[in-house]
Amino acid sequence: QDIFRDFIANGAFPTESDMQVTESTIELTRAIAEGSSGVLVKNLYLSCDPYMRNCMGELPDSAQSYIASFQPGSPIPGYGVARVLESGHPNFKKGDLVWGITGWEEYSLITAPESCFKIEHTDVPLSYYTGLLGMPGMTAYAGFFEVSSPKKGETVFISAAAGAVGQLVGQFAKLLGCYVVGSAGSREKVDLLKNKLGFDDAFNYKEEQDLDAVLKRCFPEGIDVYFDNVGGRMLDAVLPNMKLHGRITVCGMISQYSLEQPEGMYNLMNILLKRVRMQGFLVFDYYHLYPKFLETVLPQIKEGKIVYVEDIVEGLENGPAALVGVFYGRNVGKQVVVVSRE
Ligand code: NDP
Repeated sequence: QDIFRDFIANGAFPTESDMQVTESTIELTRAIAEGSSGVLVKNLYLSCDPYMRNCMGELPDSAQSYIASFQPGSPIPGYGVARVLESGHPNFKKGDLVWGITGWEEYSLITAPESCFKIEHTDVPLSYYTGLLGMPGMTAYAGFFEVSSPKKGETVFISAAAGAVGQLVGQFAKLLGCYVVGSAGSREKVDLLKNKLGFDDAFNYKEEQDLDAVLKRCFPEGIDVYFDNVGGRMLDAVLPNMKLHGRITVCGMISQYSLEQPEGMYNLMNILLKRVRMQGFLVFDYYHLYPKFLETVLPQIKEGKIVYVEDIVEGLENGPAALVGVFYGRNVGKQVVVVSRE
């Protein structure tokens, strides 16, 4: 079990010591699974996701309808890939592979398995169902195609571009015929964006003193679509660089999750002046598109049109460091924790 210890104060970055790895025997018997319509699973891969920071404290009222705070002393709930060992639910049987919300532990009893997706396609790496073919993949697909109204030939900027969501948004945009630039926090990631993921250009925002200047250099004519994964000063720098009738898709604001006070925004007037449409979205509203998403993306993976970079650590005991690393940009690609490979 990986146990979340105590609520972290706002304004603090999570640390490994906020989590504890302990051993205990849980009574997850066949009778429990069958009697409760729950599903007993063996966890295989766990996903480290930025939203998990927001669960490490009191959630604002607006977030409580779709995520819950972690309970100190209890195993961390999170996305993962698991194998069904026993099922009391008619939709699942022993041996099925599923992805969805499970626990950061070796075995879990999933009490609401109807929220999990059954994995039908196993001719791709199973770990992909924590990223490319799981929640982050759906986020990239819905956020880009359903929210951003992209068109061939447009200019697209993506922040946290080398991460789980960003790398896919960039590839979708390239496949559509857009000009695509990404920002990321290291030279290694910039290299990845330009040389493996097919971005037209990329820059390391940590090395740039003047974000406005670098955006002007990359987009002399302005930005049609900004896919925002970070918020804060990057968003503020993007605003004056938007084109008339540009779209800003607010996917996430990871730069703000561990701050006591959100950073100030100074350029909001540009939304008005440039008639920009700025829209937030949550992936949960788009899961009905999952079959369509798979139909689109699976062939693209098999034809090599879409590639995916994962950062895989072995062992549940290394989970806390991997999760914390996401908030420092230590992950290169989708951060996955392997609990068991079989
Ligand atoms: P990533 O795999 O991209 O990992 C997070 C990355 O964010 C880090 O690697 C780091 O990359 C970057 N980062 C961390 N801290 C900062 C900071 N202070 N300033 C700028 N960048 C930072 O995560 P995901 O792809 O899974 O998620 C990307 C975003 O999408 C997040 O904001 C997340 O909350 C959001 N999201 C939203 C969903 C929705 O439904 N709307 C669903 C899923 C995700 P770097 O080295 O480049 O700094």
